[in-house]
Amino acid sequence: MSTKGRRFGSVPVLAVLVLMAFLYYSSVFVFLHGWLGLQTSPGSLNAFIFSLFASLSLFSFFSCVLTDPGGVPSSYAPDLEFSKDNAEQKKCDKCFGFKPPRAHHCRVCRRCVLKMDHHCLWINNCVGYWNYKAFFVFVLYATLASIYCMAIFIGCVFQKDWELIKASSNKIFYVLYGMMVMVLTLTLLTLFGWHVYLILHNMTTIEYHEGNRAKWLAMKSGQSYRHPFNMGAYKNITLILGPNMLKWLCPTAVSHLKDGLSFPTLRDNS
Ligand SMILES: [Zn+2]
Ligand SMILES: [Zn+2]
Repeated sequence: MSTKGRRFGSVPVLAVLVLMAFLYYSSVFVFLHGWLGLQTSPGSLNAFIFSLFASLSLFSFFSCVLTDPGGVPSSYAPDLEFSKDNAEQKKCDKCFGFKPPRAHHCRVCRRCVLKMDHHCLWINNCVGYWNYKAFFVFVLYATLASIYCMAIFIGCVFQKDWELIKASSNKIFYVLYGMMVMVLTLTLLTLFGWHVYLILHNMTTIEYHEGNRAKWLAMKSGQSYRHPFNMGAYKNITLILGPNMLKWLCPTAVSHLKDGLSFPTLRDNS
């Protein structure tokens, strides 16, 4: 727990928390208060729903930071059916241990991480087998909360008298705030769309780049390449988010995950 807790002692992680607190405070106590008022029923209803999204974002952010993405057990050895030179290829040249399928060595974490997606500076942790779902759900909630921030801001600004805003000393703050929320929303939307694409194809960010290279190599030799873990869109979703649709949006519901050492492939099915 102490080593996990230490992940919070990083500038980017603290910056995310400060940004979340700032956006929450200004959305509720400045813009929503100025627009609908917190004492009115539409004002308090909006404050309630926005707080819900904000709490879900915070909770899934904590799950991403605190969940170990998964390391390779020291007892791990690949199946005997591997030929000798194949097994040699599956060894990590930095940890000197065997590397399970989809695992990669992270230079920042200094170990091999199961089903590594990428090392994320903002959570000071790798995104891998055990915390990918929390990461995806966090991006989803953060995107929704950010869109909500923008809606509250726009609602407040459009209701106010333009002349009043232009004359006020807060003008710069309004402009900068609007720009920041817009950039944040667009960034999160892009990230969310990207990971929806990856989930539908059961790919990690690393595999996407590797796949591009493999496709190019296959094309040169007149063959075709297909990502081996792509089991069809719906199956892919259930492999990552779980079979129970009601738990898809819960970042900590990962009982469907096994050991992260082997994965169903197309070849198993045929
Ligand atoms: Zn390694
Ligand atoms: Zn890492």
